[in-house]
Amino acid sequence: MDGTAPPPRTLAIIGGGFSGACLALHLARANFPGRIVIFEPRPVLGRGVAYSTRDDAHRINARASRMSLYPDDPGHFTRWLAETGACDDDPEATLPDGRRFPRRAVYGAYVTAQVAPLLAAGRVWHVRAEMSELVARGGGWQLNGADGAVHQADIAVLATGHPPPRIPPPLAGIAGHQAFIANPLQSGALDGIAPDAKILIIGTGLTMADTVASLDRAGHTGAITAISRRGQWPRPHAMEDKHGAADFAPPASACVLLRQVRAAVKKAEAEGLTWQGVFDVLRWRAEEFWRALPVPERRRLLRHARPFWDTHRHRLPPPTAAILARRLAENTLRIAAAAVTGVHGADRRIDVFLRRRGAGAAARETFDAVILTAGPGRLDEPENALSAKLLSSGLLTLDATGQGFCCGAAGQVEGRQGPPLFVVGPPTRGTFAEIISVPEIARQIDALTAAAFAEAPRS
Ligand SMILES: Cc1cc2nc3c(=O)[nH]c(=O)nc-3n(C[C@H](O)[C@H](O)[C@H](O)COP(=O)(O)OP(=O)(O)OC[C@H]3O[C@@H](n4cnc5c(N)ncnc54)[C@H](O)[C@@H]3O)c2cc1C
Repeated sequence: MDGTAPPPRTLAIIGGGFSGACLALHLARANFPGRIVIFEPRPVLGRGVAYSTRDDAHRINARASRMSLYPDDPGHFTRWLAETGACDDDPEATLPDGRRFPRRAVYGAYVTAQVAPLLAAGRVWHVRAEMSELVARGGGWQLNGADGAVHQADIAVLATGHPPPRIPPPLAGIAGHQAFIANPLQSGALDGIAPDAKILIIGTGLTMADTVASLDRAGHTGAITAISRRGQWPRPHAMEDKHGAADFAPPASACVLLRQVRAAVKKAEAEGLTWQGVFDVLRWRAEEFWRALPVPERRRLLRHARPFWDTHRHRLPPPTAAILARRLAENTLRIAAAAVTGVHGADRRIDVFLRRRGAGAAARETFDAVILTAGPGRLDEPENALSAKLLSSGLLTLDATGQGFCCGAAGQVEGRQGPPLFVVGPPTRGTFAEIISVPEIARQIDALTAAAFAEAPRS
């Protein structure tokens, strides 16, 4: 021993949205003794896909008191709101019972504000670049940037979020058409739409709700049709919290789970409680139940129950729910179970062949705008250069349901030689089942930090 301290390790986080920023914050709080470098092409850390929006119609869909970055300090975000007055100019954000649903831009500002002091102090570094390849070399990682630059790290963490949505084959013919909007969350995407435009939205989840709210806020009054295979759309939050203690046993099959849920909802309603409470209990036990199910049962669950789960678990922010309810009542919004069988871009409009569920033949309708809100793509699509290369090189594998990368309980990639590699956030869905929202991701990152990186007591 010559007394020389080993050189500090470098931990590279690839992706600086919510997950990447949250991890950097937790590492700093745990006194991680090395350099923390976040590779993120966006100008600001912490916002990612969900919180980069500047549209005032876009709100967080869980109440503010559930959106803390720190599971052991649930009041962190609500205190920040009170200290900064960040939603004082937004009376709609606060419900009569005190629950708050601020704009998503405000939530992005919260996360960014937490990371800013770490950046200023040189505790966290932000490299504005997209990484296209990860190669194990010399006991560490070589990270190849899409810009040709090469970086080194000792530990790598993948925090790249959901794969971007892809245009489904029946819509391929209108990619690039001026009346087709492939990503309504992109800034200014809806700007050219006339107030009386007749619109088709493909997908009926929360992004459809955001899109209707944005159009409504911008003065759109024309007819909107929103379609998905089952025509299910997100449910509202309960008017008040009346949660019971739903009692579930880990299920042996998808059928048993669905039976338990139906029985628990019936019992809750008979006791004057809410179905939302049943789903909240399920949500927190989702990982345990998912692990208990054999793979064919997991697949069955995804095939048959996914839309119902998504629409009951991920609920509408109350101001958005009010807009949807009004548009439905006015008949300027119709939500239907239907599929697109073909499209034809004609001049400035698009002809769409729509087959309603249960109908034999498709009918042609003409729309002034067609908007895609159909959700994320797949990790193994060649367009997702980094994840496709990680899969083809064998560094990562997809779980048996194709939902995400295989990883251990702390997000570590197991069963391989080489430098440490971790995955956090939505790309771990196949392992953790319900890992796409802030509370679950923050909990996962807290556990990962404690298990793998907490080398010194928290400051
Ligand atoms: C529209 C929307 C609204 C949501 N609203 C809520 C809500 O109200 N409440 C809630 O709890 N959850 C919400 N969620 C879910 C949740 O908050 C997000 O899934 C979460 O923010 C995921 O963060 P992330 O950092 O993993 O992914 P992302 O936000 O997608 O960030 C990933 C980042 O990685 C970067 N990246 C990708 N590939 C590379 C690469 N190769 N090299 C370098 N960087 C790369 C991207 O630029 C991006 O910034 C919402 C999600 C969406 C999409």
